[in-house]
Amino acid sequence: MLATLSCLTASPIDAQDASRPLVTPGVSAELAAFRRGQLRDVRYDLSLTVSAGDTAAGRVSASFIRRGTGDVILDFRGLALGEAVVNGTPWPEAPRYWNRHHLTVPAARLRPGRNVVTLAFATPVASAGAAIIRTRDAADSSTYLYTLLVPSDANLLFPCFDQPDLKARVTFHVTTPPAWRALANGAATTRDSSARGVTHHFAATPPLSTYLIAFAAGPWSVHTRREVIAPGGRPVPTALYVRRSRAKEAEADTLLAMNARALRWLGAYFGVPYAFPKYDALLAPAFPFGGMEHPGAVFYNEESFIYRERPTTTQLLGRQATTFHEVAHQWFGDYVTMRWFDDLWLKEGFATFMAARMQADLEPTSNAWKTFYLRNKPVAYGTDATSGTTPVWQVLGNLDQAKSNYGPIVYNKAPSLLRQLEYLVGPAAFQRGVQQFLREHAYGNATWQALLGAIGRASGRDLSAWGRQWMLRPGMPIITQQLETANGRITRLRLVQRPAQPALSGAGAWPLKVQVRLHYADRPAVSLPVELRGDTTVVVGATGRPVPAFVFANEGDYGYAIVLPDGASVSWLEQHVSEVRDDFLRAMLWGALWDLVREGELAPVRFARMALRALPGERDEQLAGALVGRLGTSVNRYASPTVRDTLLPEVERLLLAGAGDTTRSYGTRKSHLDAFVGLAQREGALRQLRTWLTGDSAAGLPLRAPSRWAMVTRLVARGAADRDSLIAAERRRDDTTEGQRLAFVAAAAAPDSTVKHQLFDRWFRDAALNEEWVTSSLRAFHEPEQQALTRRYLTTALDTLPWIQQNRRIFFLGSWLSATLGGQSERTALDLVDRWLSARGALAPDLRQKVLQARDDLERTVRVRERFAAEPARSTSGSEGHTGPADPPGGR
Ligand SMILES: [Zn+2]
Repeated sequence: MLATLSCLTASPIDAQDASRPLVTPGVSAELAAFRRGQLRDVRYDLSLTVSAGDTAAGRVSASFIRRGTGDVILDFRGLALGEAVVNGTPWPEAPRYWNRHHLTVPAARLRPGRNVVTLAFATPVASAGAAIIRTRDAADSSTYLYTLLVPSDANLLFPCFDQPDLKARVTFHVTTPPAWRALANGAATTRDSSARGVTHHFAATPPLSTYLIAFAAGPWSVHTRREVIAPGGRPVPTALYVRRSRAKEAEADTLLAMNARALRWLGAYFGVPYAFPKYDALLAPAFPFGGMEHPGAVFYNEESFIYRERPTTTQLLGRQATTFHEVAHQWFGDYVTMRWFDDLWLKEGFATFMAARMQADLEPTSNAWKTFYLRNKPVAYGTDATSGTTPVWQVLGNLDQAKSNYGPIVYNKAPSLLRQLEYLVGPAAFQRGVQQFLREHAYGNATWQALLGAIGRASGRDLSAWGRQWMLRPGMPIITQQLETANGRITRLRLVQRPAQPALSGAGAWPLKVQVRLHYADRPAVSLPVELRGDTTVVVGATGRPVPAFVFANEGDYGYAIVLPDGASVSWLEQHVSEVRDDFLRAMLWGALWDLVREGELAPVRFARMALRALPGERDEQLAGALVGRLGTSVNRYASPTVRDTLLPEVERLLLAGAGDTTRSYGTRKSHLDAFVGLAQREGALRQLRTWLTGDSAAGLPLRAPSRWAMVTRLVARGAADRDSLIAAERRRDDTTEGQRLAFVAAAAAPDSTVKHQLFDRWFRDAALNEEWVTSSLRAFHEPEQQALTRRYLTTALDTLPWIQQNRRIFFLGSWLSATLGGQSERTALDLVDRWLSARGALAPDLRQKVLQARDDLERTVRVRERFAAEPARSTSGSEGHTGPADPPGGR
């Protein structure tokens, strides 16, 4: 595909050779395509010597079968290259063929068929910005190391062919100080001691993509347990690695059993048992993700797997969902891998979808699809309805931009589309298609077309148009319900869809299949499956039926669309939504009402009043938590200052009462308490926080460190004069690594320009500062009530995006933008962002999209505030605050 490739001949690189197309920084799509045709059967024999120091020394033998006569290009951007040997012959001039991104092995040194290139190298070890992450445990001064290579840092760790479709068998040898343990993808084989320390040897793995290679080292505590991990198989040893100081707190048996249960269930569903030789998990301290699915060595975020205070149901379900997600990746991602990161959705979408499918089957009472809805849809719509959204399949020119492909579109929209697809073709055909896909691409790579092809064949349905609309087209539909009635009967029910962003998505309807519910207060509901093929769909089955209490066009959450109910339905829901017994349906209805607020069609004060009325009786813990959050946002962010000041005392009373209500579940009480702390701003509320801190209990709930820190942070944010002594006192109580981190966060909340200035500077200058610490301090720094103070950082924060993209991990940029812009709610800030955008014509498109995604909520906030600025706080019930969508003439 590239004519220049056949005459490629390497010459020594004198630093400025980055103009040659294949050896530009990163891994270009061209280089990946070239190597895809050139290389096969890759193997790495990888030795690393690690310690608590700043560098690791390594040696790799990369063995591969080469086709053609061209040079071979390895990727490496570590610290240094040392001794090199090609096919047994020393190659002393190798460093001159390294441009700090790629090492070009000249064709003259290579032969047809199998070649072996052996290289010595050094790679950095650091708290942030290195392939090997180092954390130090404050409790016992131990050092722990682990790798995190996704998506493009395998070539920072060692010289390799860093692209997902050059899978390799990897054999690790890790040399550590004597008292350390080590863990890697392969099974541990032998250990030997030398003057340098102990060398841990691991067996060769099945073929792995480079981003999935992993090891960890340190004085980990290990808990082993025999588990059946293949359906009908025999028990095999599995292990959980935890740092020593927290080993007692980890529910090791529970966690290993949960992983094994998922492995068995998925093996049965996919018709392929777990495909790697062993399964271990590690709880990684200060881990920047929720989890990472390395085959055989899954890493989880310690912070969300070991609880420092009693967990809520929402937290427990979240931990289970993360576990199931990472285990599902062992098939979707690890066993069959996307060919290139443009198809990132394929693994992420499946992992989340399968996690819910499994939760629904294994825990029938968990109402898993309700959890799926609450965890995914608001987040997906929150990005996909913006002008910065992208298609699910995302063009990717270079691996070093792959981080930009991560976000709600692949994590939350993609699994939602799989739910829609399963509903469209039926669960049995869906499963048969997926099984076929996995069989066809075992240990290999595939694209979205291959997946839809397999499901299409299994279901006898041509999915190419579906794929074009949902995979390649950016954006999403908004559906409005139009209900016409006469003489107590429905004369016509129409569903009208339009793109949320017409300029971006273009015209035309998305193909959708939904379930429409006609809900009656006094008779059974009617559910009607409807396929939407055009802009307007008449729900034929509704005509002639009695007028319902309300209509909802996405019962069961199969459809992917923002559904805005008609005026009559909104009027009924406003009075009676809490009477809807089905928790899942009620959660969706609240979601639809909230969407009306965000669309500027329902006054925030009206939503707040509905929530104030409903919350005391809301028995669903997850929904109560979501509702408490939205109540806070409607009052504190969307409503006018007058409305806020009027409603706050009422909100505080409700939250206090909810927190102290012993008839309600712990999680419901805790979400009320957390919201009270988060909203505390009046004198009485702040005094209450101090009373709780002194008494060590709050509203009858015992206070543990995380909640105490939240209160301290809130007091600091509100300008407590004794903030230094407050933080110091709390640090004395909580002398752990987490305590240090939370003290750092609390300090960031101070409404003090010197503190802000020093911290902003430190985020960029202090290489020893762990990235996770920076991430967790962003929200406190950008406390919305301090927006006058933080607005001056807005454009600087945007100017740093290219640096962040280069130097921070996948999710950091999104957190950075959402905290920075989320800390603002006024038009002045919006104007600053817009001026910045229009002055940056040369801004990389992926960064522009990320800014537009984050800008959307600020823009909505400004719009909602301006629109309802004059809304009285004491409005009575009725529909005057609901400005649309209007019922058509003839509506009841
Ligand atoms: Zn994932």
